Amino acid sequence: MKINISNIQHFSVGDGDGIRTTVFFKGCNLHCPWCHNPENLTSAPCSMTYPNKPGTEILGKAVEPAEILSELLEDKDFYDASGGGVTLSGGEVMLQTEGAAELCRLIKSEGISVIVDTAGVVPYTEFEKMNPIVDEYIYDIKTADCEKYRNIGGDLSIVTDNLSRLIRDGKSVRVRIPLIPDFNTDTESVNSIGKLLCSLGIKKVELLSFHRLGSSKYEAMGLNYLYKDVEPISSENIEMIKKEYCKYLKVDG
Ligand code: SF4
Repeated sequence: MKINISNIQHFSVGDGDGIRTTVFFKGCNLHCPWCHNPENLTSAPCSMTYPNKPGTEILGKAVEPAEILSELLEDKDFYDASGGGVTLSGGEVMLQTEGAAELCRLIKSEGISVIVDTAGVVPYTEFEKMNPIVDEYIYDIKTADCEKYRNIGGDLSIVTDNLSRLIRDGKSVRVRIPLIPDFNTDTESVNSIGKLLCSLGIKKVELLSFHRLGSSKYEAMGLNYLYKDVEPISSENIEMIKKEYCKYLKVDG
């Protein structure tokens, strides 16, 4: 089964432990306006034209998992030395579980660990296909507010239900909260997310601060980036947010 991917990024840090290679899957069922990977919002290839670069780049291809294995094996020595491996990210990997599971099996057969990064808005049956072969999930929690989730195409009850089931099924889950200005960084939002995660038995979270590095990609795709003028969160505010979360959980990042 082919998978739609946009690119393969070597020497990734921040997508799990150690040195990793990240495979970006194309296509997402959410539409977060701050997304820094607009090229992965749709599964179809997209054209990118940068002002300072000649020509147009077409990003996205359908590949058989076996076709990309050799590239993922190139850095095996680094994975072994650093406790790293391969991370599947996106877009939403869990929309392509047939091909993703095949890719995971190939990677695992080489003795390499696999992490899947997901926003969790899929039926749990999709996780059941992946659970036997995925070492760990990076699981995004964006808000504890049903309406805010609905506004970005998500469903809080699905997200929390899947998270509970993953824990029940003994999976290793790294919960990550993207810190998005005017969305989930005010005291009330932080406290409601903290309480929600506590009620689900989560003991630790990673915070991921909003950045505008995807801005040029929106421009290259001829899209309007609604967050282009939104200032990143100051380090003082990040410390305050961390402190607030620490009332409920241990915080990394
Ligand atoms: S879930 Fe992730 S990839 Fe999908 S739109 Fe939101 S930020 Fe982008």
